[in-house]
Amino acid sequence: MGEFSEPERELLRRYCTNVDRRAFALRGLPEVVRGALFSRYSRTEKSLRRVLLDEFLHEPAAGLDLEMGGADRLVDAERAEDFYQRVLVGYGDDSVAELAGAHVAVERVSNLAAKALEDSRVGISPLEKSTRYVRFDRPDQDGRFAYHRGPELAQAAYEPAMDALFRTYSELVTPLTNRVREAHPREPEESERAWKSATRARALDLLRGLLPAATLTNLGLYGNGRAFEYLLTKLAASELPECRGLAGELHAELAEVIPAFIRRGLDERYGAPAAAYLAEVRRRVAAQAPRAGRQRPEAGPEVRLVEHDAEAERRVVAAALFPHCDLPLAELGGADVDTEAVLRALLDGRANRRHRAPRALEHAHYTFEITANFGAYRDLQRHRMLSQERQLLGTGLGYDVPPDLAVHGMDGRFRDAIERAAEAHRAMETTLGPALAQYAVPLAFRLRWYFRASLREVYHLCELRTTAQGHPDYRHVAQEMFKRVRDVHPRLAAYARFVDMGPGDELERRASERRIDRKLAELGG
Ligand SMILES: Cc1cc2nc3c(=O)[nH]c(=O)nc-3n(C[C@H](O)[C@H](O)[C@H](O)COP(=O)(O)OP(=O)(O)OC[C@H]3O[C@@H](n4cnc5c(N)ncnc54)[C@H](O)[C@@H]3O)c2cc1C
Repeated sequence: MGEFSEPERELLRRYCTNVDRRAFALRGLPEVVRGALFSRYSRTEKSLRRVLLDEFLHEPAAGLDLEMGGADRLVDAERAEDFYQRVLVGYGDDSVAELAGAHVAVERVSNLAAKALEDSRVGISPLEKSTRYVRFDRPDQDGRFAYHRGPELAQAAYEPAMDALFRTYSELVTPLTNRVREAHPREPEESERAWKSATRARALDLLRGLLPAATLTNLGLYGNGRAFEYLLTKLAASELPECRGLAGELHAELAEVIPAFIRRGLDERYGAPAAAYLAEVRRRVAAQAPRAGRQRPEAGPEVRLVEHDAEAERRVVAAALFPHCDLPLAELGGADVDTEAVLRALLDGRANRRHRAPRALEHAHYTFEITANFGAYRDLQRHRMLSQERQLLGTGLGYDVPPDLAVHGMDGRFRDAIERAAEAHRAMETTLGPALAQYAVPLAFRLRWYFRASLREVYHLCELRTTAQGHPDYRHVAQEMFKRVRDVHPRLAAYARFVDMGPGDELERRASERRIDRKLAELGG
């Protein structure tokens, strides 16, 4: 007889994708059980299936109701919670909180809160409603435009200015879409769906600068307990009451599904003091920060390379050779090697951007300071494999008007609504302070941020974000980033062959929509 009796095999089949092969997946078990099961791996000589049988499925304290059609129901959550805490405590390292995850939807939050929710480097995958495919002028449940209106934003100019932005957006969407369609008529062999979708996306792209940071959006986060714990702590430390409120709400919902894995996020022992510390550090550093204290001329969009490593080539080459030789890294750095030949061996022959640049490229680093509109920032902030911080969103650096709006004669209304929001922002800055005043700032306004990225991430970001279907604003930033790197390290940059430095398509989505059509046709739909 094998490791399991027939009744055991039968039970296991419900929760494991197979009962006799060495690789198998778990299914139909609550997250907490999967996480706790894995945490036992490092403390037992038993197989996982044996642990599942002996310590969970046959253990009343685990609270699994096998009679109710599966272990996907916990019968006694409180008793079970103690049980899982005991299992997890036995492991003893914080990383155990990475062993269970949750899908969380967060709806009707401002773009400022969305950025805060998406600001995790490791362990959380966000997905957010797109400004390119979704109209943002649909009224909220109460019939008003959907933007954040907390009691903290009591300022007479705020709501009229926000309403004006949304009204302008709403009134321009249809005529602008029609103009775009006239300028880009449907081509032979282009489906009605693809053409309508590409032209609408173009109109929404042109108008998104009107949307204020207060615009409500929806997002989904999939992440593990440890990453959520830290996110909760950071939200609780936020300057924005909206984010602090979200910390409590998110915690309550996560506690419904992975309570044992997010305990410390806001607790009295770890989470709350850590949040207080983060807030205190922010206040202390802000008190030390110099301010220009005078009106500067508006800055145009720009990407500056603030810092790079003169030794980058040598470091990349040494790192590339390291796994293949028996010398210490320091000696390799000084070795007499043919740099050109090593780089060719390392990087030549990439057939598309999914042939990822190798890890050796992480030995070259670049710091970029970027001034661009909040719309572009909003998209690029999503790159997690770099260090980034932004300055407060304001109106001092001016705003961008997409040139095509003037072509269609709609730039005047765009500017009027934007200027009105800028006035509201200035009034709020004085009465409510610069952090809260950010809500009033439309996506067209520029802000300053930095990215510190390795060359590997530069390859990834620039190749991905310069594709012809990308939004022109972030395409421009990615192209400029790449130019700066190419200027200082031409040999290292030479293999980023899929950075598209071209002018882009006039109708960015056209080619992508046709590809979607072809794929749909292949799928028979
Ligand atoms: C054309 C286009 C349309 C988009 N539309 C939307 C949209 O509608 N809604 C929206 O929310 N976002 C959208 N995005 C943003 C997109 O979902 C990504 O968040 C963004 O492009 C960052 O890319 P990345 O994750 O590859 O980069 P990075 O975060 O810089 O990561 C670099 C690489 O590291 C790896 N990696 C990083 N984190 C993880 C992880 N947790 N798990 C596994 N691998 C990881 C991946 O290989 C990744 O490519 C869009 C992006 C593009 C280019």
